[in-house]
Amino acid sequence: MELIARLDQQLQSLDERSLRRTRRVADTPCSPCVQVDGRPMLAFCSNDYLGLAAHPRLIEALREGATKYGVGSGASHLISGHSRAHAVLEERLAEFMSPHLESARALYFCTGYMANLAMLTALAAGDADAEIFSESLNHASLIDGARLSRATVTVYPHGDTPVLATMLAASTAATKLVVTDSVFSMDGDMAPLPALLALCEQHGAWLVVDDAHGFGTLGANGRGALEHFNLRSQNLVYMGTLGKAAGVGGAFVAAHASVIESIVQRARTYIYTTAAAPALAHALLSSLDIIKGAIGRERRAHLQVLIAQLQQGLTLRRWQRMPSETAIQPLLIGENDETMRLAAALYAQGLWVPGIRPPTVPVGTARLRVTLSAAHTEQDVAQLITALNQLESESWYG
Ligand SMILES: *Cc1c(COP(=O)(O)O)cnc(C)c1O
Repeated sequence: MELIARLDQQLQSLDERSLRRTRRVADTPCSPCVQVDGRPMLAFCSNDYLGLAAHPRLIEALREGATKYGVGSGASHLISGHSRAHAVLEERLAEFMSPHLESARALYFCTGYMANLAMLTALAAGDADAEIFSESLNHASLIDGARLSRATVTVYPHGDTPVLATMLAASTAATKLVVTDSVFSMDGDMAPLPALLALCEQHGAWLVVDDAHGFGTLGANGRGALEHFNLRSQNLVYMGTLGKAAGVGGAFVAAHASVIESIVQRARTYIYTTAAAPALAHALLSSLDIIKGAIGRERRAHLQVLIAQLQQGLTLRRWQRMPSETAIQPLLIGENDETMRLAAALYAQGLWVPGIRPPTVPVGTARLRVTLSAAHTEQDVAQLITALNQLESESWYG
């Protein structure tokens, strides 16, 4: 009883600080128009940036994959779970990313979280003397990967290339890794990848890029941040997730073949886990075709139109629109309770916009995280703009 009471006390303390998180149950597929607890909602919260999560072609491909390969993989990749579907997907991903990487090879993972742990532990673990330079706003999975790697971790300030340059110059580590999100998941802004890559090449460091929010959405062909900035290097280690713009699930690391082989040999989150369902890998082949093709190009263009529409339509005085050119368009509110009150007020109007609080973001920077998808229409975005402008002016009684 005492053990339970202690937990309940901790949970109550979350309530007191407006930090308790809750889940809503969706009864329909991921889409801008989603039924939640029996109620139709217009949603601005998914990372399904190209609107592929419920695309008929992918649903059909998943069915076909299940017919061809069954449902479960049955084992880890290194035992017997590595199917033809996984192998073909990895070849296609490597080929897709090859304009940006030397001797590119790709490795498919169950989740981006696991891919990040694998990448950092494999690159750093072979070397007692490794140092990871980690951007201060990195995703939790990169932070955890850096801890798990047992490398020395040095955090550099957000976007601050000069400070990073000083840190790299001062480092005596044999293996150096600069690790960053390409598009920051809670801010929407982008890391200065060309400057970071130049520094890494100068100091013989790896540049490890988490492109969870760039893959599929950035670049003319959807190759993500590397295509957006037109980068190519042997020093690049790239992670793209496949459950966001790609609409399915899982993730991949693409890098020089020797990097990938080291991950296969060393990374515990790759070795000691059951391979994802082959049907998912099979469905991802269709997703990749869509991303590369005409539909992908049209949807990326439409997404840009919606981003501009939102930026131009908001007339905010009190809340701050964060400097983002991507589909992640957060509005900085500040306090947790006010943020959650606003999210609730929007929800009452049928608009689903999540409030994001610490520890996901720094204390005092709670925000409404609006994400746009190519599946939204201009009418959807107009409705959001009207509601946000109205809500903000009502809160402006100061
Ligand atoms: C979502 C996300 C991940 C984790 O990917 P999953 O496939 O969801 O596990 C990693 N990094 C960033 C920046 C993300 O936004």
